[in-house]
Amino acid sequence: MDLGAIVAEIGAEMAAAEDRGRVADYIPELGRVDCNQFGMAIVTAEGETHQTGDALTPFSIQSVSKVFTLAIALGRLGESLWRRVGVEPSGLAFNSILQLETESGIPRNPFINAGALIVTDSILAGHAPRETLGELLRFVRMSANDDDIHINENVAKSEEETGHLNRSLAHFMASHGRLLNAPELTCGTYFHQCAIEMNCVQLANAARFLTGAKSAPRLLSRQKIRRINALMMTCGHYDGSGEFAFRVGLPGKSGVGGGIMVVVPNKASVAVWSPGLNARGNSQLGTLAMERLARTTGWSIFG
Ligand code: GLN
Repeated sequence: MDLGAIVAEIGAEMAAAEDRGRVADYIPELGRVDCNQFGMAIVTAEGETHQTGDALTPFSIQSVSKVFTLAIALGRLGESLWRRVGVEPSGLAFNSILQLETESGIPRNPFINAGALIVTDSILAGHAPRETLGELLRFVRMSANDDDIHINENVAKSEEETGHLNRSLAHFMASHGRLLNAPELTCGTYFHQCAIEMNCVQLANAARFLTGAKSAPRLLSRQKIRRINALMMTCGHYDGSGEFAFRVGLPGKSGVGGGIMVVVPNKASVAVWSPGLNARGNSQLGTLAMERLARTTGWSIFG
């Protein structure tokens, strides 16, 4: 299989695509990003890298960061984490508050915003936000084997200024006694984790530890890797998770910056980025490119 040629062909198709979706403008700083960009990178279990397009352009990883905070929280707390956050798909938008009211402030899963706030709150407990963000950056840099990964302060500030809905989620959960820290501290840490910038090559490398491949860095036990991949499969694209499983058939996590990180167990890890989003807040071309890649390579967890 000539992965280099496959990736180049997908890049050419995406460069010519007309329907590119719409950038997220509810975070003003993300609304300024040029929609005409597309990048993709694959790192195989053998450690070969294939890339195309804007694969070296940094972008805001946003909700993809939730995978890394979950890995840290699982590593630190183990299975007791599931007392604070569920493992069911929500079937609702990533920022919905609806189920929190009827489900006593316990979020459905760690990838919707409410659940990600709980995860961040868990690793923040007893630490200053700065220390927790330092630990997160160390984890991401180690997983990507690249120290040139940073937080974009302008993006964090932009979300600080407009993040009323996330603050509502945090305060709602706090009113049910579900937060360990002041809502402002948890939200501030969350806004900064979402503002981490990476390029596709870095992100594909950072996902290697989730492939379980022998050559990949061993940052978590096999059982914890399975937990994270299962959640990426069922909840990684919010109310579009069923569609992603149907079209792509691989565990993936999207972010409103237009990035998607995908795990091909034992074989490879992939990152794709195109800033235009579909109606559910997942990268329009990123999803299409992953569909093409899965179809051409035959990669799927469904046989
Ligand atoms: N920071 C974004 C938010 O909380 C992340 C959402 C996303 O990427 N889906 O709204």
